[in-house]
Amino acid sequence: MYNTKAYSAVSATSPLASDTIERRDPTEHDVQIQILFCGICHSDVHSVRNEWSDFISTTYPIVPGHEIVGRVTQVGSAVTKYKPGDLTAIGCMVDSDGTCPHCRGGLEQFCPNMTQTYNSPDKHKTAPVTYGGYSDSIVVDERFVLRVPSNLDLAGVAPLLCAGITTYSPLRHWGVTEGKKVGVVGLGGLGHMGVKFAHAFGAHVVVFTTSPDKTEDALRLGADEVVVSRNSDEMQKHTGSFDFILDTVSAKHDINAYLNLLRLDGNITLVGAPEKPMDVAAFSLIMARRSLSGSMIGGITETQEMLDFCGEHNITADVEVVPIQKVNEAYDRLLKSDVKYRFVIDMASLKSE
Ligand SMILES: [Zn+2]
Ligand SMILES: [Zn+2]
Repeated sequence: MYNTKAYSAVSATSPLASDTIERRDPTEHDVQIQILFCGICHSDVHSVRNEWSDFISTTYPIVPGHEIVGRVTQVGSAVTKYKPGDLTAIGCMVDSDGTCPHCRGGLEQFCPNMTQTYNSPDKHKTAPVTYGGYSDSIVVDERFVLRVPSNLDLAGVAPLLCAGITTYSPLRHWGVTEGKKVGVVGLGGLGHMGVKFAHAFGAHVVVFTTSPDKTEDALRLGADEVVVSRNSDEMQKHTGSFDFILDTVSAKHDINAYLNLLRLDGNITLVGAPEKPMDVAAFSLIMARRSLSGSMIGGITETQEMLDFCGEHNITADVEVVPIQKVNEAYDRLLKSDVKYRFVIDMASLKSE
């Protein structure tokens, strides 16, 4: 084992602070990575503050971070895909059983034995739980290490590992291609990536937002139209016209208003998670054989496909880079949606701790 610098929280009410953690020495299938950038995801805030305790309770200390970009420093003897110096990335998962039907189908995110990048029981017993990317270095099985296209801005790549794949995967799954009319509800960390991908796939993209002042930005990101969702006349003009709608909003909202905008066989997929159950009017579904689904990140093969697609189309997230010393401030601003559109920590700042 070796020591590495990190930022951790020791309780649900503590701020993140400088810490030293232990990582395992790379075993034969492991890749050791020096972390260059790590994105700040909304899930990090929920986990640090133990707000998802009904679903997964937080073990302290917690080292969050699952939007990781870094450079390989060392590889185990059996590693074939990577060598020191390679630019790599780690997303929300670091392991799975590899044998269940989901894993065999390239859908590791649904594996019952999937290990999350942080706050999952640590199979290697280095610590009670896995520690994430707010850290100088990480050791991960090569099956869960991704390759980063060399032409991309590395800070802007980090959020692709969660916000990127979370939006890319459902857009692909529901067949968004040229000529399709696609809605994106909400223009935050997830939404802005949804707009970029749907636009790159050739769809006609409509952004739904509650804030008219986001119009200019939505158009710049690739939207063809912007609808202010509070304006029911504007909403009604689009009734029965969408092939697919990606709903990224985690605040309470009326899903029926969007279901009615779908055409025959249209689908709306949730990637945001409102705290309370939603009311769904059965007629909204029945009248046009519409469907309502959810989606969670994407498998490893698909995540690599997404990164390669981003390399070819020069797509990255719009980010604000912060030093780790500003991480608590960034959390507060994130909760006020005061970021365009993702905070990313420059991990070089951890060296001065
Ligand atoms: Zn995330
Ligand atoms: Zn599995």
